[in-house]
Amino acid sequence: MLDAMGLRLWSPAGAAAAPAPAASPAAAPAPASVPVLVTAPGAVPAPATLGARPDVSALGWPALREAVAGCRACGLCAGRTQTVFGTGSEQAQWMVVGEAPGEQEDRQGEPFVGPAGQLLDRMLAALELTRAAEAAVPPARRVYIANTLKCRPPRNRNPEPAELAQCEPYLARQVELLQPRLILAMGRFAVRALLGSEEPIGRLRGRVHRYRGVPLIVTYHPAYLLRNLPDKARAWEDLCLAAGVAEAAG
Ligand code: SF4
Repeated sequence: MLDAMGLRLWSPAGAAAAPAPAASPAAAPAPASVPVLVTAPGAVPAPATLGARPDVSALGWPALREAVAGCRACGLCAGRTQTVFGTGSEQAQWMVVGEAPGEQEDRQGEPFVGPAGQLLDRMLAALELTRAAEAAVPPARRVYIANTLKCRPPRNRNPEPAELAQCEPYLARQVELLQPRLILAMGRFAVRALLGSEEPIGRLRGRVHRYRGVPLIVTYHPAYLLRNLPDKARAWEDLCLAAGVAEAAG
């Protein structure tokens, strides 16, 4: 049962087999060997209750946001500080889809913060795009940013297929409401959720895919680019391709 909950019971090695040394009358009694209950790395703490995901297919933005905030459809709800719904203008014509909230996103409630988010903002700024939802910025220059998962996986482990499947309807509804001209899918879990493909990014980039009729370009996740500088040039090519597709769709 503990295993099913992602918990392991650890005891000091050999504690059961080795007899305790006889205590001398003058010595302090040896501390008892107490088993320690720890959460296995990457495991989700067992939530008190999981609930069914609501039907979100007809919800508007406020109700959708509320549904996500209260969602307990998968075990990730147990470890989150808060859900990370999305950010940017609801009139944006670009949509960026990332993977899952990390530690800082979980704390701040916004996707793509920290170094990866700063790199994304610089990449977008190079195309005169922004996540800012200011009225002065025309919709063609605005970007809405969301993740495939709305709750942080513990220790930033990879999302499980069942978690991606549970969360996907929220993202699908965000796309329906936004009706972007273009989706930029960043990283393999965004690709998996949107295209259902397990193929490497390198094989999927460089061409136009579709998600529910919306043109979709595949590219690397900014967190990956921070560790693999040579691929920044390829990511720039992807952005230029995306800009051309968005322009043509306008
Ligand atoms: S990750 Fe998605 S499906 Fe799972 S609890 Fe969070 S909002 Fe619900």
